[in-house]
Amino acid sequence: MENKYSSIIIGAGMSGLAAGIRLAQYGKRVLILEKHHVVGGLNSFYNRLGRKFDVGLHAITNFVRQGIKQSPLNRLFRQLRITRELFDLYEQNVSRILIHGESLCFTNDFSFLEQQVAEHFPQRIDAFRNLVEHIRNDNSPTDKPSFLSARRILEERLQCPRLEDMLLMPIFFYGGSQEEDIDWCTFVILFRSIFLEGLARPFEGIRRILTTLTRRFMELGGERRMRCTVDKIDIRDQKAHGVFLHDGSYMSADHIISSIGHVETMKLCDAADTVSVQPGKLSFCDAIAVLKEEPRDLGWEDTIVFFEERERIQYRQPQGLLDTCSGTICIPNNYNYGLDRKLPDGILRISHTANTDQWKALLKENFQHYSRAKKEQALAMFEKAKSLMQSIYPASRAFSPHLLDLDFFTPHTIEHFTGHINGSIYGTPHKVRSGKLPFENLYLCGTDHGYSGIIGSMMSGIAIANSHILSPSHS
Ligand SMILES: Cc1cc2nc3c(=O)[nH]c(=O)nc-3n(C[C@H](O)[C@H](O)[C@H](O)COP(=O)(O)OP(=O)(O)OC[C@H]3O[C@@H](n4cnc5c(N)ncnc54)[C@H](O)[C@@H]3O)c2cc1C
Repeated sequence: MENKYSSIIIGAGMSGLAAGIRLAQYGKRVLILEKHHVVGGLNSFYNRLGRKFDVGLHAITNFVRQGIKQSPLNRLFRQLRITRELFDLYEQNVSRILIHGESLCFTNDFSFLEQQVAEHFPQRIDAFRNLVEHIRNDNSPTDKPSFLSARRILEERLQCPRLEDMLLMPIFFYGGSQEEDIDWCTFVILFRSIFLEGLARPFEGIRRILTTLTRRFMELGGERRMRCTVDKIDIRDQKAHGVFLHDGSYMSADHIISSIGHVETMKLCDAADTVSVQPGKLSFCDAIAVLKEEPRDLGWEDTIVFFEERERIQYRQPQGLLDTCSGTICIPNNYNYGLDRKLPDGILRISHTANTDQWKALLKENFQHYSRAKKEQALAMFEKAKSLMQSIYPASRAFSPHLLDLDFFTPHTIEHFTGHINGSIYGTPHKVRSGKLPFENLYLCGTDHGYSGIIGSMMSGIAIANSHILSPSHS
């Protein structure tokens, strides 16, 4: 009896925690199993030399103010019964898309982007407005199986490769699971969440959200086990009955929700070869530089810069270790925290697409070579970010070359800590939008369910709990 649950959730990332809260709210006996010693998965946190770092957080997408009922963020607060104050969100200042030296800026006020398009692309403003109207009214079902190319639709509607690339750039970097294109349905979700809604950040970073979710889950009587790896899902008669843990124990449940990825879950069922789906291969390297100075004091106003140095954007796995010609620079200090709140250090977070196989081969060959390459690449990324910021703000002051700290992670790090094959952040391009796997009682939530990012993953956990486990009236 003790090891029998109503639901077992594999993974204490954003989607697993949200699913757990939703089920515990309805009195279900829920157990979350997490292989790592901290919660958060792809968006966790760690301490290093006395400083607290977020693993991934650049921006919380989908930011809207209170009262906008249909927005995912406000729906999330309602469904998890938490107040928005608990997330302590602050809005971005201004973000920039910079392609081949040409900039387009956006804020959380959509009319600002519209003005920018009118200014930089006066011939295409009507086409842009029509496109936005089309996106606002798009109600196509999210579970249609066929791929509809967002590139093709943008090409036809905008007839302006530069504007097309500018709109795609943040969308690729914040949710693109395939090279050079994205399914229209995912494009619409991301366009709304980045441009029509907006970007924000909790003052204390991701731990604020994770602490809120964990507390809520525990208050509701939810159970969790950390450092607890699921080795196998018990499938008999095409039905999931329970899980075998790495320590040899067995837990049974009426329902199992997995947040670890599609192929990753099928592997636990010994059935990876029965699906034609390939794991995603797009991954990133991230560098975090701790500066002596506050970036705004140097004259840098941007919150996030999405940049591409070539004439057309390239969003693909690079040939070399990473592609420093395009990427994102995030300055967590440049959210509007108000006059009396300031982060303790100046921070730059820099991301580039990376080649997982190359990093893994380097590690296999020689750990010292891998470590040296990390250090060299981190410094190169930092220098690139520095020169880009100086090109954007020529009058800005140069900052001290002496960094207080510099950390770096590779696709191997992501794979090692989260179990996502290839360190793929946005999972496989073949999403399971129904959340149903081919075995009864087994469901998929999170990235491979087709919802991207922090808010998207939480909404995914809620949607799976509502539609497959609670009654349909909860959807
Ligand atoms: C570097 C980086 C930067 C990012 N930046 C942003 C951002 O700025 N904004 C944004 O919105 N999104 C961002 N994301 C994406 C966002 O973090 C993810 O979309 C989201 O966190 C995914 O949550 P999830 O619950 O679907 O999956 P995961 O976070 O992957 O959760 C799955 C969990 O399952 C655990 N697990 C795996 N295998 C097992 C097993 N066998 N047994 C038990 N547990 C297991 C893992 O340890 C993990 O904790 C970023 C991601 C990364 C990596």
